[in-house]
Amino acid sequence: MGKKRKDDGYNDGKFKAIEYFLKGLRAPIYKVINFRSAYKYRCPICNYYGPFLDKNNRLRAKCPKCGELERARMAMLVLNEIYSSEKASKTDVLHVSPENFLRKIFKKNYKSYISSDLYRKDVDQQFDIQSIPYPDNSFDLVFASHVLEYVKNDKQAIKEIKRVLRPGGLAFLPVPMLHDKTIDFDERPPDKRIIRETGIDYFDRYREIFNEVKIYKPGSFDQKFNLTIDMQDSLDSNIYQMPNLLPVCKA
Ligand SMILES: [Zn+2]
Repeated sequence: MGKKRKDDGYNDGKFKAIEYFLKGLRAPIYKVINFRSAYKYRCPICNYYGPFLDKNNRLRAKCPKCGELERARMAMLVLNEIYSSEKASKTDVLHVSPENFLRKIFKKNYKSYISSDLYRKDVDQQFDIQSIPYPDNSFDLVFASHVLEYVKNDKQAIKEIKRVLRPGGLAFLPVPMLHDKTIDFDERPPDKRIIRETGIDYFDRYREIFNEVKIYKPGSFDQKFNLTIDMQDSLDSNIYQMPNLLPVCKA
């Protein structure tokens, strides 16, 4: 198991604090170098204002201060919209494959918090999401971003998420939007870590199990947050937008 973690590029969390501190230092430098940039944005996670960094062929995708990308910044805005500080203080959270920035926010502002992962050590509980070791109605919020594309029996995992949620509880379950139609592989392809390439139709699997599924899109938020995923073709200067969608499922 320890070997697998290494191969997957995870560390056990020991150096994360230093890593994030060092990354934070680049923001003021980047801001000075690019002060003439016409593109300035606000990060809803760390409140940075200024130019964003490209990430590979994704233009202006990354906040230079906290390092978070489009989907994380949109999730932050949706959480802010749904959870007032009062509501958050009554919300029990299960966070699967935790993002560092969100872990801090959940721990600080929410009623209770459990982080989990199949392999990572820097979490409260290690378990397989196809069999969640908690009784029915244990949580008010499950947050599992870009997780289900790795899970063999995703239908079982979605059922498990619904089971541990209290009635009216919410599950945030974004997956990458790679196609119109999802491609399920029988076995994990040797060159991939994912077991399916999820598409726009993937949210139908949530609709089969949850009572209500609401899809949040960048257009619902101010452009100053720059939540669209603008990809530049490497061969020419065409820019195309990959959908940045956040499904929120109600139990
Ligand atoms: Zn930021």
